[in-house]
Amino acid sequence: MISLHNVSKTFNGVPVIHAITLSIAQGDIHGIIGASGAGKSTLLRIMNLLEAPDSGEVEVNKQKLTAFNSKQLRQVRKSIGMIFQHFNLVANKTVYQNVVVALELANYPKADRRKRAVECLQFVGLESFMTKYPAQLSGGQKQRVAIARALANHPHVLLCDEPTSSLDPHTTAEILAVLSDINKRMGVTIVLVTHEMDVIKSLCNRVTVLSDGSVHDTVSITPKGIQATENTAAHLLKQLM
Ligand code: ATP
Ligand code: MG
Repeated sequence: MISLHNVSKTFNGVPVIHAITLSIAQGDIHGIIGASGAGKSTLLRIMNLLEAPDSGEVEVNKQKLTAFNSKQLRQVRKSIGMIFQHFNLVANKTVYQNVVVALELANYPKADRRKRAVECLQFVGLESFMTKYPAQLSGGQKQRVAIARALANHPHVLLCDEPTSSLDPHTTAEILAVLSDINKRMGVTIVLVTHEMDVIKSLCNRVTVLSDGSVHDTVSITPKGIQATENTAAHLLKQLM
């Protein structure tokens, strides 16, 4: 579904992502964990080419994004949703307008926009908040709006950058339940960046451990626990400290 091949990125002469090769399977909830500055957000932004790698290849759904021009990239990004730690809602637009904007930008058929926006807000349980503004919402509600907006164009993939890092444990559990629902009911592949091991354990079935811009390891998470070597387990433990 998503495959990175030998991807590298340097900022101002400083290497940040080193020759990463990584596959994310369709239908997975794939976590990326690592310390602050490890390159998690950069790696996530490379997956939809919001950040262009200096070298290497990025493929999503068998489409080679690194060979695309900007028009083709805009088109392919419609099928890749994204959410963030600080929600990134438009402050002077209502909840409803925040979702409709995504449909307008994607040239979604005009006659179907209202229906689709309401559908997505219903899915996240916010249909009665449509006329509210972001400042009138709790953190969890803001993240639900951001999720509704990210889902609007029927994405195959949802990229999540620390989606629960600003939320309390109870709200975190609610948002993780919404993400799990999206994965199970809509078949959306989810990539979730976090520095919280608990989030990985409760939601993901694979996890990549990122360390100083390199993949240390990618391991499976089963109901029995994390299937890691001793070395990877030590790395994972380090992320908890
Ligand atoms: P955090 O957990 O704090 O969010 P992260 O793992 O997401 O960290 P990145 O944001 O990907 O890390 O940053 C990795 C490195 O790249 C950092 O050293 C950061 O300062 C640097 N960096 C990221 N974006 C840019 C940019 N646009 N220009 C210059 N340096 C950048
Ligand atoms: Mg980050």
